[in-house]
Amino acid sequence: MVLMTGEEYIESLKNRGPLTIYLLGEKIENPTEHPIIRASINSVALTYDLAHDSVYTDIMTAKSVLTGNKINRFCHLHNSTDALQEKVKMQRVLGQLSGTCFQRCVGMDAINSVFLTTYEIDKEHQTDYHQRFTDYVKLAEANDWVIDGCMTDPKGDRSKRPSEQKDSDVYVHVTERRDDGVVIRGAKAHQTGAVNSHEHLVMPTLAMRNEDKDYAICCAVPADAKGITYYYGRQSCDLRRLDETEAGDVDCGNPVYGGQECLVVFDDVFVPNERIFMNGENEFCGRLVESFAAYHRQSYGGCKVGVGDVLVGAAATIAEYNGVEKASHIRDKITEMVHLNETLYSCGIACSAAGHKTPAGNYLVDLLLANVCKQNVTRFPYEISRLLQDIAGGLFVTCPSAQELSNPETREIVEKYLVGVEGVDTMDRVKMLRLIENLTLGRAAVGYLVESMHGAGSPQAQRIMINRLSDLEEKKKLAKTLARVDMDEPK
Ligand code: SF4
Ligand code: FE
Repeated sequence: MVLMTGEEYIESLKNRGPLTIYLLGEKIENPTEHPIIRASINSVALTYDLAHDSVYTDIMTAKSVLTGNKINRFCHLHNSTDALQEKVKMQRVLGQLSGTCFQRCVGMDAINSVFLTTYEIDKEHQTDYHQRFTDYVKLAEANDWVIDGCMTDPKGDRSKRPSEQKDSDVYVHVTERRDDGVVIRGAKAHQTGAVNSHEHLVMPTLAMRNEDKDYAICCAVPADAKGITYYYGRQSCDLRRLDETEAGDVDCGNPVYGGQECLVVFDDVFVPNERIFMNGENEFCGRLVESFAAYHRQSYGGCKVGVGDVLVGAAATIAEYNGVEKASHIRDKITEMVHLNETLYSCGIACSAAGHKTPAGNYLVDLLLANVCKQNVTRFPYEISRLLQDIAGGLFVTCPSAQELSNPETREIVEKYLVGVEGVDTMDRVKMLRLIENLTLGRAAVGYLVESMHGAGSPQAQRIMINRLSDLEEKKKLAKTLARVDMDEPK
């Protein structure tokens, strides 16, 4: 079914086989009904609903390069630098409307990186991974799947290679090879939207050596495959979502939308041959990791910018509610927030515009600029958040609960002292403060801050790439030419 609605997507999750999910010490039987999980599902559902909204349909959909059908852009193989830019613009819109992580990008970034890598493996090894994977992408498009791009292993002792670990399960690996497929075991950590996915596209997490061949596995398994267990990640202030009253909604800050990360454990999961896209070709792990990371570092130049727009809007609104919007230092701080946010967007657009066609035919972003984009993302959202907290004043963390505003015993006195400028409803002021808390300290801060730091690779990973791609020798030549100094290296 091409182009599901949000409702159809939620229905499709219910139609999966039973999933084993642990959350807050309980086994969750109906994930779509659980208030914490439901908020994260709402964010993904938005990626479906907007595809049907006349205002957003152009940005949310694309023409499949494989079938010519109109598909959701999240299933698209990018076929031009324009398409790469459209992707970033779509992510900005979704960040603006959800104010959180909408989870579906990892799969989009994974299918593009696996598509280009399988082509290159086949060329070297005369394998048929690329045709298999192309067939898989066709299925993803036709079923409008959410795919969990499953890359990050728990890694155990970071000083050791995968094959040197005391417990080999800290990296996903092949435990059995059969005629009809392989069996995999291990885990993937920090899996964005894992419980909200139809499929997991498992990829190696780093470049592998010959001794790590069993860990050089790329394959797809359905979310309800036998042997998979989900350990749902706790997020800051997540218990607030358990209060489903009106006051509970207020205290949530962003009552409708949330993100999701899980530890996903694969306990001897069978993968049939047609879902294997790399199996021991360890010399291609680096290419896969590098291209996936680049796509996802580009993604952050869209999604975080959209959420950043919400922070800017919250800053301007709370300044008005507090009666300080005309103060020059407030205006200057908001200008700085916009400047930082648009700098991130510029990076997302730039690495897309400077992208190139891969031998497989899809387009890849400029690797250096994508890494610069993400390196800035590890910093600027923290400064944008700091400025918002500065403008908001301390009440966003000291405000009494909205319960006190609905309790007849306390309402009058709390309202009297929480009042802002005349004409602004006190409850609206409290809602805005709670949204600010949510964005900079609460559930959305996971996606906006910590994910900005560590998602798509921690800061040092980008610095290594920036260093590698910076071509210092060429730059030295430029300086030496102008200074008219000897071109030879010092003896
Ligand atoms: Fe998408 Fe951003 Fe969430 Fe990654 S962090 S899945 S790019 S919304
Ligand atoms: Fe992420």
